[in-house]
Amino acid sequence: MAYKFATKAIHAGQQADPTTGAVMTPIYQTSTYQQKAPGDHKGFEYSRGTNPTRKALEDCLAALENGQHGLAFSSGMAATDCVLRLLKPGDEVLTGDDLYGGSYRIFTKVYEPLGIKFVFVNTSDVDAVRAAITANTKLIWLETPTNPTLKLADIEAIGKIAKEKHILYAVDNTFASPYLQNPLDLGADIVMHSVTKYLGGHSDVVMGALIMNDEQLYKNLWFYYNACGGTPGPQDAFLVLRGIKTLHLRMKAHCENGRKVAEFLKDHPKVEKIYWPGFTDHPGHEVAKKQMKDFGGMVSIVLKGADLQETFRIASQFKVFTLAESLGGVESLINHPATMTHGSIPKETREKVGVVDNLLRLSVGIEDADDLIADLEQALA
Ligand SMILES: *Cc1c(COP(=O)(O)O)cnc(C)c1O
Repeated sequence: MAYKFATKAIHAGQQADPTTGAVMTPIYQTSTYQQKAPGDHKGFEYSRGTNPTRKALEDCLAALENGQHGLAFSSGMAATDCVLRLLKPGDEVLTGDDLYGGSYRIFTKVYEPLGIKFVFVNTSDVDAVRAAITANTKLIWLETPTNPTLKLADIEAIGKIAKEKHILYAVDNTFASPYLQNPLDLGADIVMHSVTKYLGGHSDVVMGALIMNDEQLYKNLWFYYNACGGTPGPQDAFLVLRGIKTLHLRMKAHCENGRKVAEFLKDHPKVEKIYWPGFTDHPGHEVAKKQMKDFGGMVSIVLKGADLQETFRIASQFKVFTLAESLGGVESLINHPATMTHGSIPKETREKVGVVDNLLRLSVGIEDADDLIADLEQALA
């Protein structure tokens, strides 16, 4: 039976423990499993390959993305790495020009030297995506909304191109979370998550995930998963299962607070520019309305007339927002992309896509919105 999102968030992949009746999935803190005779086992051999707590989480993640198969990794980057292992020297990857810094780093510093070519395009422009495809393009990898300037890519339109040209198509869905957007339904072959962010939701776990429908693709990815070993531990899998149980409630609160904070900042005299896809004059607003349930809790601002020193000064004034990398937790965070999350991207490259020295990114948490706005008011004063 096809349950709705909130029911899946609480139950998918999980049932009472058959031996004890424990309602919560146990933390199977074991590396190995007894076999009756060689090869005669209950589906679990060694925890690098499979573990029951992790399996419950993988099934839950798959259900939330309307996919058949899930794989949980020790980090979002380990998940990305696993997809890149499908490529061979000479292959090309078409990807966005406004990526998470760590994705840019693994592309250019790890895989480019191995002979894989990365072509960076503005993925909000479907024609630019089509024009950049060559006979060697083997993977399209995009983020939407992007980090940190919240550009939107039309997942379905690009999916049609990928299908027509037989190119593997992966979407990093970290910023939206499966509550707001489901790329597999829109034509993606693989959904990637930094589970560290909204899925975990409590800033206490680093984890990644891949979700897909195709059985052969799952088998190919599982081969590299097991061969290379970027597996998370069962304790972390338990924490994420627990976090996901409130994903729908948290996301509603993130979106509501995100809207209030964005509206407060829009006309603030210290704010030169604001990025939030809920504004009708945001260039991706229509695409966001079409493919997302709501506009999310991420808001980025450019401070008016502030140099690096003044931006640092303001970023250090917050009392409720915490100055830190990461996003998607219940607590509000403020981040300076140019020196923090995007520090690994060369200055000219990042400035071309708006990651300027006076840009601040807010991950709006689920505290009382009045307190968040008062904190912004005093920090910007
Ligand atoms: C954090 C993040 C990643 C990397 O995930 P980790 O869990 O930190 O390894 C990838 N993509 C996006 C959009 C992210 O925000």
